[in-house]
Amino acid sequence: MDTGTFSAKSLLDDLFDNGILFDSGVDGLYGRSGVFEEVIERFERLVTRLGAPDKATRIHFPPGMSRATLEKSGYMKSFPQLAGCVHSFMGNEREHAKLLGMMAAGEDWTELQQPTQVALTPAACYPLYPTVAARGPVPAEGLLFELSSYCFRHEPSQDPARMQLFRMREFVRIGAADQVSAFRESWLERGKAMIESLGLPCEVDLANDPFFGRGGKMMANNQRDQGLKFELLIPVTSEEKPTACLSFNYHQDHFGQTWGLQFADGSLCHSACVGFGLERVALALFRHHGPDVNAWPAAARAALWDA
Ligand code: ATP
Ligand code: ZN
Ligand code: MG
Repeated sequence: MDTGTFSAKSLLDDLFDNGILFDSGVDGLYGRSGVFEEVIERFERLVTRLGAPDKATRIHFPPGMSRATLEKSGYMKSFPQLAGCVHSFMGNEREHAKLLGMMAAGEDWTELQQPTQVALTPAACYPLYPTVAARGPVPAEGLLFELSSYCFRHEPSQDPARMQLFRMREFVRIGAADQVSAFRESWLERGKAMIESLGLPCEVDLANDPFFGRGGKMMANNQRDQGLKFELLIPVTSEEKPTACLSFNYHQDHFGQTWGLQFADGSLCHSACVGFGLERVALALFRHHGPDVNAWPAAARAALWDA
């Protein structure tokens, strides 16, 4: 792997050439090698170990979620450009013949599909909030969850760090404002120390989400002004524009309001999540330490393999 170059296209080619990722013909949709998966598995174990003292409840959601939940969450207002909904053919035989005819003629046959109840999960924590709300009032000490999910975002790119289907591991804290801020603060420190233990250069910076449209600019500014989002950045495909590999998000009481998450006394819960982009961390490791995991620096190997 030519670790001297920093152009997105060449890193992707290097990953293909080394058999670490496999091309599917669609940008952002790749097969992963056994070694790539092993790095992700080891990293997930490291994350889980770091979080273990906090005794989070672990939930693994599938990569699809209730479309109604996605609609109610407000996602389509903020990120319509990233969302994906699953459609299926629900017609009869006559319509099936029409579909095959349209396909054969190279016409757009997808209009014969209908939306299903399933949307692709855009972030691991979206299915969580209504699940928690359905269980009744949140206890005074709050709640903590550890989640893992494949996520979809329609942002095709030749930057290998910007995939359309990727995995996110998240810790989500639901509770009072001070509980939630303390959680985020502690992960800002723990996350940085963890990435440094892997021998990766990183910096933490204020960030904003890619809110859609003109109104979105205001939302992004507001998010920055209030310090609601931080990212841990590692150079992966560019030194000038390092990649967000961990995110630390404070939602205030947005999900509390949306889903009626409240304490027994009726006051609304706040929430925060810390998200680990698993493919991005793996890519950062390969980018900085090379394609052969046996030749990685001793400290990185110890953190991932020996503990
Ligand atoms: P970016 O700013 O690069 O678009 P993001 O800020 O939108 O990323 P979040 O919404 O905070 O990302 O998602 C949580 C984590 O998921 C990120 O820190 C990142 O590591 C990972 N992630 C987000 N988008 C992608 C993607 N397209 N491919 C791979 N990992 C991603
Ligand atoms: Zn989240
Ligand atoms: Mg971002």
